[in-house]
Amino acid sequence: MTSQGILTGKTALVTGASRGIGKAIAIALGEVGAEVVVNYSNSQAQAEEVVSTIQKMNSKAYAIQANIAEESSVNKLIEEVIKRSEKIDILINNAGITKDGLLMRMKLDQWQDVLNLNLTGAFLATRAVARTMIKRKQGRIINITSVVGLMGNGGQGNYSASKAGLIGLTKSSAKEFASRGITVNAVAPGFIDTDMTKDLQAEQILSAIPLGYFGKPEHVAGAVRFLASDPAAEYITGQTLQVDGGMVMC
Ligand code: NAP
Repeated sequence: MTSQGILTGKTALVTGASRGIGKAIAIALGEVGAEVVVNYSNSQAQAEEVVSTIQKMNSKAYAIQANIAEESSVNKLIEEVIKRSEKIDILINNAGITKDGLLMRMKLDQWQDVLNLNLTGAFLATRAVARTMIKRKQGRIINITSVVGLMGNGGQGNYSASKAGLIGLTKSSAKEFASRGITVNAVAPGFIDTDMTKDLQAEQILSAIPLGYFGKPEHVAGAVRFLASDPAAEYITGQTLQVDGGMVMC
């Protein structure tokens, strides 16, 4: 028996879903009935655990390895999902990395590695998935950006450029795809407690969060689930929803 929920009958692909925010998104979508494709890069065992968590909630799920920074790998991933699930209704461009450093000392490969995954990867997945969504005249694409894409951050020139770029990509693709029944939105988390943020100076950041505590991956997942839902979010496109405890108000 499969679970009944607001996303029953939908297939969702979540990139970078083995850990952190992507994992919480995959589980939140599975919880309301979506069939979830759990993409990962290296963490196969963790991805399989996410799959089994979703299956225990009576939704379908499977894991596929793919490096989202590589065009051939992304195209293969999408082909495999179409072969197995016949369609993709929801794409969550979540896979992302940081390689922090001051601009004056930043190596070109440190810049390119971050841009290649965080921005080019989202473009590659969007382009590949849009073909199938356009044919079916429906789809939801949600890009996980960051508040640093809005406000900048010293020591994260590469990362903030990638995330600001993702907001531009969100708006442009929202305009291009609107007439095809596809919405494209972004979610901008603030400081969320995951592996990515475990080495950051927590106390300093905490003082900049009006709500006074760090976010959990589930807080981001709730916003993503809303944006993936019909009819709740069907009239929202090209927007960036901040999930940051009030850290950035603009
Ligand atoms: P995380 O805990 O470090 O998890 C990163 C995920 O991305 C993992 O599942 C990882 O897979 C996957 N990944 C890494 N390189 C990949 C590649 N080349 N191809 C496919 N998947 C890859 O990070 P997170 O904190 O959950 O962040 C998730 C997203 O939220 C990122 O886009 C990040 O920029 C954004 N974000 C995070 C925060 C925060 O405070 N944490 C704030 C704003 C925005 P493996 O496990 O296989 O390596």
